[in-house]
Amino acid sequence: MPTTNTTAKDIFCPRCAKHYDITAVLTLCECGAPLLVDYDYEKASSVIDREKLKGRTANMWRYLEVLPVFDCDNVATLGEGGTQLLVSKTIGPELGMPDLFLKDETTNPTGSFKARGLAMAVSRARELGLKKLIIPTAGNAGSALAAYAARAGLECKIIMPRDVPGPFLVDAKYHGAQIELVDGTIKDCGERATDLVKNEGWFSAATLKEPYRIEGKKTMGYELAEDFNFELPDVIIYPTGGGTGLIGMWKAFDEMERMGWIGSFRPKMVSVQAEGCAPIPRAYEEGLDYAPVWEDPHTLAAGLRVPGAVGDFLMLEAVRKSGGTAVAVSDNDLMMDTKELSAKEGIFSSPEGGATLTCLKMLLNDGFVKPDERVVLFITGSGYKYLDVMQEWDEEHSA
Ligand SMILES: *Cc1c(COP(=O)(O)O)cnc(C)c1O
Ligand SMILES: [Zn+2]
Repeated sequence: MPTTNTTAKDIFCPRCAKHYDITAVLTLCECGAPLLVDYDYEKASSVIDREKLKGRTANMWRYLEVLPVFDCDNVATLGEGGTQLLVSKTIGPELGMPDLFLKDETTNPTGSFKARGLAMAVSRARELGLKKLIIPTAGNAGSALAAYAARAGLECKIIMPRDVPGPFLVDAKYHGAQIELVDGTIKDCGERATDLVKNEGWFSAATLKEPYRIEGKKTMGYELAEDFNFELPDVIIYPTGGGTGLIGMWKAFDEMERMGWIGSFRPKMVSVQAEGCAPIPRAYEEGLDYAPVWEDPHTLAAGLRVPGAVGDFLMLEAVRKSGGTAVAVSDNDLMMDTKELSAKEGIFSSPEGGATLTCLKMLLNDGFVKPDERVVLFITGSGYKYLDVMQEWDEEHSA
């Protein structure tokens, strides 16, 4: 078999420290916490280094030695990752910020950074011999699972809220996924998926309920380090739903330090959510280690409509340890800023990306962010699947 040279060795629980065999099919830890992949970092630092990366193709598989797949033939790829870190040309200067950056994840296959996580999860699922993958989703994760399952020849079922924007139904269907609509939020979809896992033998690729999606998302942290020549930026503003990206990047920074690629400096990790569904900012303010479920969640930024997340304690830990913060923004502001990103930077972002700009403005105002700091906004998805949502909002607000 063409081996990947991966240094993945073990699975561990970040809460109770229990270890698991990496060849087993795993979901959550016995204690209920998400499981993470452990590597032999000493070996990793001998088989891969910062120089070796340079000649490699610009997609997330350039970090193959620190990704959990053993046989190259199992890699299901559509070219995800390797996205551009763009310098803000207009908004930054207007805000008096010379070093404002936009990590443009809109160009990923299937239109969002969910491609990274699901490329990884599907690749590993195929390696483990799984055949039927299911996912509860607000949209983008379903698109991505459907595409990668099609690529890998696996069966796929997608559980979405009935009010999901239409394009998410169309692409999932074109990819041959089975689709089920549920009255309620992603949380209700999650409960339905759990039933189907129990009764029909599906394997769930829900956020952090298997150990591999986060491994795909962590590559954003590796890319940022490369983009900044291994001098990490001062602040990262991340639109947070289930939190895999935030937790993943935090893990990536730890891994790179262990391999001697970076020092102990960390960016301030900022979680932004919408006022209508802000469990992480609320828990942060109240000093809690876990985030109680948000009742009656609503926001146009569908990817942020996650009322309760199994990785809540990991997000809060990363935010606090990094000296970051958690902020809730209004739908009106985040929609205006989505438009501003389009008009002033040429990036057609989904509403989640707009939320990072709103958050930045608030943090500049209250002095948390200084204008001379190097700040990265994560523009996590494309606006094209939200055309109806955006047009409707625009009609209501431009009169
Ligand atoms: C899913 C999603 C998010 C939230 O990402 P997490 O890593 O799950 O917190 C943000 N933006 C978009 C466009 C998404 O699809
Ligand atoms: Zn545990």
